[in-house]
Amino acid sequence: MSLRSVCVFCGASTGSNPAYREAAIALGQSIAQRGLTLVYGGGAVGLMGIVADAALAAGGEVVGIIPESLKNAEIGHPGLTRLEVVDGMHARKARMAELSDAFIALPGGLGTLEELFEVWTWGQLGYHGKPLGLLEVNGFYEKLTGFLDHVVEEGFVRSQHRAMLQVSPEPSALLDALDAWQPLAPPKWADETPR
Ligand code: AMP
Repeated sequence: MSLRSVCVFCGASTGSNPAYREAAIALGQSIAQRGLTLVYGGGAVGLMGIVADAALAAGGEVVGIIPESLKNAEIGHPGLTRLEVVDGMHARKARMAELSDAFIALPGGLGTLEELFEVWTWGQLGYHGKPLGLLEVNGFYEKLTGFLDHVVEEGFVRSQHRAMLQVSPEPSALLDALDAWQPLAPPKWADETPR
């Protein structure tokens, strides 16, 4: 598939290591340099603001989706190509998913994890065929990916669904992998083959 837009999920904080900020800048630049539209949560704070600023500074288009209730807390970014204000968190995630051809999580907290896992489960159910990736920074996601392998070993996730999540420390390599990704065949929940 040829990507036109990429959604980035990331912390509303910057985290404790400057490497996270640097990774957000590199990812924002890489997205813009490829002519892709960045879709994100619309805030000006934390890694959210940093990835958006980096994409804008590199001449990219950036679309933010922010719930009315968070416009002040996360400070709706004033300089975006477009800021959409929606009714709530559910509408935010649905709109980000609708506008994006792929999803990348940078380091972040509960919101980032929740956004990533929700869009992943939508893919697992065949609601969309869009790829997902983690930008690995400083081993931030190592324990999570190890745990996900454990969940597969224990028979709760199929390996083809685990493989939907690409991981790379390098923005350009990650975007290449997402671009090359082939959607899975639609799930056959009706059959009784063991996982
Ligand atoms: P965090 O990773 O916790 O710093 O949050 C990153 C982003 O996720 C912020 O824009 C949060 O507002 C957002 N967020 C947190 N919880 C949710 C949720 N349930 N649905 C959508 N966005 C959320």
